[in-house]
Amino acid sequence: MKKLFLLLAWACAIPGWAQTLAPADKIKTEKGDLTVQPITHGSVVLQWNNKTIWVDPYGGAALYKGITKPDLLLITDIHPDHLDLNTLQALPVTGATIVAPQAVVDKLPEQLKSKAVVLKNGAQTQQQGIQIEAVPMYNLPEAPDAMHPKGRGNGYVLRIGNKNVYLSGDTEDIPEMRALKNIDVAFVCMNLPYTMDINQAASGVLAFKPKVVYPYHYRGQGGLSDVNAFKAKVEEGKKDIEVRLRQWYPSAE
Ligand code: ZN
Repeated sequence: MKKLFLLLAWACAIPGWAQTLAPADKIKTEKGDLTVQPITHGSVVLQWNNKTIWVDPYGGAALYKGITKPDLLLITDIHPDHLDLNTLQALPVTGATIVAPQAVVDKLPEQLKSKAVVLKNGAQTQQQGIQIEAVPMYNLPEAPDAMHPKGRGNGYVLRIGNKNVYLSGDTEDIPEMRALKNIDVAFVCMNLPYTMDINQAASGVLAFKPKVVYPYHYRGQGGLSDVNAFKAKVEEGKKDIEVRLRQWYPSAE
C-alpha cells in the first residue's frame, strides 16, 4: 500500500502527467453556452457554437488529453509560456486558423505560418463567427527593452454571441485596459516581475469593471500570487464584479 502511495506521489510530481484540469465553467450567451476550460497559467480553452478556441497552448501535450482540437488558435506573445512550439507541435493544431501578432507569426514553423492571420494592436478580424480585436499589452513605464514592449504582443477582446471576453496577455494596468467597456468575462494576469502585482491588477479591474474576472497567469518568481487577496480587494471596491478563482496550476498543489 505504501508503495502504491509512493508511486502515485511520484506520478503526480511529473509535469504534464496525471494532472487533473479544473472543471469547466459554462457562461450563457444568446447562442448557447460558452464553455471555459482553464488549462494552465495563461492557457485557456473556450468552446462555443461547436467551435473550439485555444489560447496560448502551453505546458505539454498531456494537459490537452481529451480536449477537442482547435478551430481557432490565439497566441498573445513570443515568450515560451505563450508560444510554446514543443506543445504546439505535439498537438493536432494544423487544421486551426491562428491569430497572432507579427512577432509570433515570424517564429512559427512554415506549416503553421500558412494558417496564420496577423493582427496588430487595434486591428480586428472575424473568424469562425467570432469577432476578434487585438488590444495592447505591455509593461510600464514604456521602454523598448521592457519585458513586454508596447506593440509586440496582443491582448484580445472576443465577441462571442452577445458576450465580450477579454484576455489580457502579459500586461500591466495600462490605460487601454482601464478604458475597456462592456466586458462580460475577463482573464487578467498577475505575476511578478513579468506583469503586475495583485494590487495593480485589482485597480485595473476596478477601473474597467468586467462582470466576471478570472485571475490567470499568476505564477511568478515568488511562486503563486495571492489570488484570494486579489478577490478580497476587488470585492471591497465593487461588490458586483464576480471574481472566479480556479485551479490554473494542477501540479502546483
Ligand atoms: Zn507570460
